Amino acid sequence: MWLEEINREIASCVRCPLCQSRTRVVPGEGPEDAMILLLGEAPGREEDETGRPFVGRSGRLLDECLVAAGIKRSDVFITNVVKCRPPDNRRPKRGEMESCRSYLRAQLELIDPRTVCLMGNVAARAVLNREGINALRGRVFEGRFIVTFHPAAIVRNRNRKDDLISDLKKARIVAEGQEGSGSEKLSQL
Ligand code: SF4
Repeated sequence: MWLEEINREIASCVRCPLCQSRTRVVPGEGPEDAMILLLGEAPGREEDETGRPFVGRSGRLLDECLVAAGIKRSDVFITNVVKCRPPDNRRPKRGEMESCRSYLRAQLELIDPRTVCLMGNVAARAVLNREGINALRGRVFEGRFIVTFHPAAIVRNRNRKDDLISDLKKARIVAEGQEGSGSEKLSQL
């Protein structure tokens, strides 16, 4: 399956109630051979309007942090656990995440990134079935999953910006094969 096919399926998806309130689906964007995949929670208002991931305030902050970490945005694939915006930016519900899971799985299988950055508790729960961002952040699981803060959390608390940059740097270093990996087997995908 190619990214285009996955995107086509997402575009017509009515598997969960989020299809009723979305303006546009936000499947994700980036090269099919990206070494790093960044996974957020769900599209927000600007993403819902444009169909592109991380283009709002959080996206601008993420862009800054990527530059500081020595990563080009155009080199990474960016997507979310759910591909449609939850009303009022609420957290996606468990059933919605389950309904959307096969798209994320297909993206991960196709792109096969060396590193997957799980940004925030929702992404960590979706992939590792774990929450507790302060305990998980900066750790590497199964050699390629790295947990870090969601950029929206940094917009609210700029004190943790350096932590996000440091985790993104670590993701780059792991993707470049310069660092050993952790060993916990937690992935649900
Ligand atoms: S969130 Fe995912 S499962 Fe739900 S309608 Fe959108 S694409 Fe389909």
